[in-house]
Amino acid sequence: MKMTKNRQQVYDTLVKSHTPLTAYEISKMLDEMSLTTVYRALDYLYEEGQVKYFVLNDFKYYYVSVEHKHFFQCENCKKLFVLDECLIEDYERYIEAHLGFKVSEHFIFFTGLCKECQELSQFSQKEVGV
Ligand SMILES: [Zn+2]
Ligand SMILES: [Zn+2]
Repeated sequence: MKMTKNRQQVYDTLVKSHTPLTAYEISKMLDEMSLTTVYRALDYLYEEGQVKYFVLNDFKYYYVSVEHKHFFQCENCKKLFVLDECLIEDYERYIEAHLGFKVSEHFIFFTGLCKECQELSQFSQKEVGV
């Protein structure tokens, strides 16, 4: 694999970021790099298996492959949260034992309300006397 300076910079940005990033966000963070260059670097890194992505509202969110993560998005404020802990191994074993599949990987995306938005909705309910 050839790590050019641009590719390395894009990769390092993803390593440093705790949340997944879009190409646009990366290009804003690397202000001298054009969006096209960022896209090219991401395509290459994806082909090489260095990064993964998921699509959310038509945007590709990239993250580094070495870290296994799950994601949560708040339905109200749309904030994206990263869950570092994986408690899915038992479920994988269950799938393998009961369905005979060989699981190689999983991707989990939760949606719901974040803590802040839960508190906000409780507060507004009290205010209107619900
Ligand atoms: Zn929220
Ligand atoms: Zn997991």
